[in-house]
Amino acid sequence: MSADVMVLGAGLVGIFTALNLAQQGQKVVLIDRGEPGQEASSGNAGVISPWSIAPGCAPGVWRKLPGMLLGADKPLNVQAGFWPKMVPWGTRFLLNGTEKKYRKTANAMYELCRPSVTLYKDWLALVGHAKLITDSYYIHAFRHQNNANLDALDYAIRAEKGAEMQLVGRIGLAEVEPALAPIYDAAILIKGQARLLSPGRVGTVLAEYACRLGVEIQCADIGQIFREGGDWQAIGQGRVFRASKLVVCAGVWSEKLLRKTGLHIPLVAERGYHLEIPSGHISLNHSVMDMAGKIVASSMRGGLRLAGAAEFAAIDAPPSEWRESLLRRQAARMLPDLDLFHARFWMGSRPSLPDSLPIIGALSPSEGLFGAFGHAHQGVMMAPMTGKVLTDVILGKKPSIDMSPYHPMRFS
Ligand SMILES: Cc1cc2nc3c(=O)[nH]c(=O)nc-3n(C[C@H](O)[C@H](O)[C@H](O)COP(=O)(O)OP(=O)(O)OC[C@H]3O[C@@H](n4cnc5c(N)ncnc54)[C@H](O)[C@@H]3O)c2cc1C
Repeated sequence: MSADVMVLGAGLVGIFTALNLAQQGQKVVLIDRGEPGQEASSGNAGVISPWSIAPGCAPGVWRKLPGMLLGADKPLNVQAGFWPKMVPWGTRFLLNGTEKKYRKTANAMYELCRPSVTLYKDWLALVGHAKLITDSYYIHAFRHQNNANLDALDYAIRAEKGAEMQLVGRIGLAEVEPALAPIYDAAILIKGQARLLSPGRVGTVLAEYACRLGVEIQCADIGQIFREGGDWQAIGQGRVFRASKLVVCAGVWSEKLLRKTGLHIPLVAERGYHLEIPSGHISLNHSVMDMAGKIVASSMRGGLRLAGAAEFAAIDAPPSEWRESLLRRQAARMLPDLDLFHARFWMGSRPSLPDSLPIIGALSPSEGLFGAFGHAHQGVMMAPMTGKVLTDVILGKKPSIDMSPYHPMRFS
């Protein structure tokens, strides 16, 4: 089996990369150990936005860390054995917390997020599933009026870039989202966005379309990658795949695969959870984030999904079961009429780098090794643009945006 390009990992990042390459006439093999798009790319909150451009490390965020780690809502936790890895990663993360770096990172995030709504609408219309995406606000709901501040740096940056936002009080929020419990004093409505109604299904239909474009989708758990005789080889479960170019899009697992080629990248698992509740008559009109708990609630085809949390842990560590009861309490607080009996609990890993930006580009240009991973909290929305610009890089064309912020070797 030999292809022009082998894409390793069929999350949304790998799928969009394969789609763009195939559209450019490349013979592509896309390999995943499971069904396409069913890891992080499936269990997320489905927010698609040009305006999700607030890097993790805001200036002064360190002051909020004790509250985030120890407060009742625990939006952040570090599993006990992970602290030795967390300290160096967290130090690099915190060093990005100046306004200058924050603005620079927000600009680079914007380049990947800006076309996300249009690209998803175009691709989903092309594959005959336009109804898997719908227009939406992103509602940031605050329990205390004083915290809803349009002058805060992240909202100011969005406004500078043209986002339409509106500050509403308790009554204004109830008009937009009548199902929400009256526990929020204020909300910021960020307009001009969209949300996916079933992120997992989006991966499936796009992968099916990739097959129609000629992409060969293979199921194998790849244990080894190496270069031999001018080609890349990937070996898994006794099978060998060959191509002249290799693109690693294996989400949080990318670091482990690349370590064997001598590359060391500070990629960690920032795990998140969701609770999906077949919701009957209870539904939301938009994506709603409870800003204290950092939990996003959204009505999807499978029910009402509450997704969030940032938990740093080893990739293969078991889920923290206490998160399920916490999510249940948070769901009951936001939407008291929900029947939680049939709620389904899920955990997945965001691939996160300390500067809140993904790696996209050539890991070894002369050898035909490329990568796209580390999209952290915005990987679904950044995936279509990632696939587009990475394809340009692979084919030696000039991408439409400055690629230097995503340079793969910036941590060396
Ligand atoms: C709770 C939560 C909420 C989120 N909400 C949003 C949101 O609203 N909007 C947004 O844009 N982003 C959101 N994200 C982030 C987003 O889900 C991720 O950034 C994105 O899905 C990463 O995509 P990916 O393709 O890089 O990785 P993945 O989707 O994880 O795909 C990686 C693929 O590689 C495969 N793979 C790995 N190793 C191997 C191997 N050795 N052999 C074969 N296959 C392999 C895996 O099976 C997997 O299919 C959220 C994440 C979480 C956890």
